[in-house]
Amino acid sequence: MLVPATNSELNFTSELHIPAANKPRIVIIGGGFAGLELSKKLRSVDAQIVMIDRYNFHTFQPLLYQVATAGLEADAIAGPLRKVLKSGNSKSDFYFRVATVREIQYDKNTVATNLGMLRYDYLVIANGSKTNFYGNKSIEEQAFALKQVPQALAIRNHLLKNFEKAQLAETIEEQQSLMNVVIVGGGPTGVEVAGALGELKLHVLPKDYPELDFRRMQIHLVEAGNRLLNGMTDNAGKKAEEYLKDFTVQIWKEVSVKAFDGSHVELSNGMTLPSTTLVWAAGVTGNLIKGLPAEAILQGNRIIVDEYNRVKGIENIFALGDIAAMVSEEHPKGFPMLAPVAMQQGKTLGDNLKRMLNKKEMKPFKYFDKGSMATVGRNRAVVDLPNKMSFQGFFAWFVWLFVHLMFIIGFKNRFIILTSWVWNYFTYDHSNRLIIPTQIKSKKEKEELYV
Ligand SMILES: Cc1cc2nc3c(=O)[nH]c(=O)nc-3n(C[C@H](O)[C@H](O)[C@H](O)COP(=O)(O)OP(=O)(O)OC[C@H]3O[C@@H](n4cnc5c(N)ncnc54)[C@H](O)[C@@H]3O)c2cc1C
Repeated sequence: MLVPATNSELNFTSELHIPAANKPRIVIIGGGFAGLELSKKLRSVDAQIVMIDRYNFHTFQPLLYQVATAGLEADAIAGPLRKVLKSGNSKSDFYFRVATVREIQYDKNTVATNLGMLRYDYLVIANGSKTNFYGNKSIEEQAFALKQVPQALAIRNHLLKNFEKAQLAETIEEQQSLMNVVIVGGGPTGVEVAGALGELKLHVLPKDYPELDFRRMQIHLVEAGNRLLNGMTDNAGKKAEEYLKDFTVQIWKEVSVKAFDGSHVELSNGMTLPSTTLVWAAGVTGNLIKGLPAEAILQGNRIIVDEYNRVKGIENIFALGDIAAMVSEEHPKGFPMLAPVAMQQGKTLGDNLKRMLNKKEMKPFKYFDKGSMATVGRNRAVVDLPNKMSFQGFFAWFVWLFVHLMFIIGFKNRFIILTSWVWNYFTYDHSNRLIIPTQIKSKKEKEELYV
């Protein structure tokens, strides 16, 4: 017979059911690039580690655009956090909870989550960034962001549904508005989305929808600045532009999007583009959790940290990755929001927390810039090396493939992605063209699907 345990037997100290321990508790918010690297470093530390994430998986954001454009399945770019954290951690005092942190009460050393309160001795905030709509509510309501797996799947579903609808459109204008896509932001994400859509338009969609005239499909990339890939060299920006034109992408520079009503995109140059799809890749802002003092927050919702990633004015709270702004003369707004910065900060803080617990001096963070890259459809990519050298074309694309494959979590995901890429390359296919409803709740949805 099963005997239910009582609370006193289980020795719970909080509503998150984390057992009490007579050693320091380090709470990590976020299992992204920074949080994961930190947790790996803390495997052998004499402390209780609790990681909290709103999802039970880690997302490899650089490949989200391939999920949105049907090139990869969502599971291939995500790794279950419990599995990733368990490897090597079986003997340590390590706990994971799926929860959303809503507030940090730094004067009480607690965080408030949707599941209850949790006390910490040391807190690490590594909860990344979110899409910045710069206060434009109408765009925020109607446009698609690309920061999380559900958003990538929403884009894929919407695009494919649009082609189904376009076949039944009553007018050319309605059909065009369903087929067109407008992407805002000429950074790496906008360029990569535009390139992948160009590839779909030229090589994949015409086979699925032979009744549609794909010369009518327009892909617009709108950039407020005077060049693409602003964080990279001029060469890289120019080459990306050239590549995108090969994929029939129309580029609008020094133009911004003023409004979007769900079927028309209004541009600052007075033009209106008919499109029911607006992908917003025009910027990110810190994913700030309320509660920290105002003097610790920089413009852009990033948390000001010192060279040890310690939050300004608070001894036992640290911040890492996109959410952290380590301000210096060279980087007055903090380091760029990139995966290598997050990973390197996670590793350094892991070493530093061990040092601190062993009463040793901490070492300041030093960023090792390995360069940057972006791909523009098949066979084309741009790579900038840290010494300002840059190269483009097929070799750059190969380097891009290799680097992304190496950083994906888990052998299985690597294998799936490699086989998908090889398949897509030789068949000119993006084989994940499935419209999978993410929820079947409304009466209308149930009726449509005979649920
Ligand atoms: C589409 C796209 C493409 C990109 N491409 C590149 C690229 O090619 N190269 C590159 O270097 N960088 C790229 N980046 C940037 C890179 O992904 C980020 O810099 C990196 O993810 C930052 O790591 P992080 O650990 O700070 O945050 P993240 O990796 O975002 O992790 C944050 C974690 O915190 C969790 N979380 C958030 N809020 C809460 C909360 N309140 N409670 C609990 N959990 C929470 C999230 O679920 C997430 O797991 C790209 C980003 C995007 C969106």
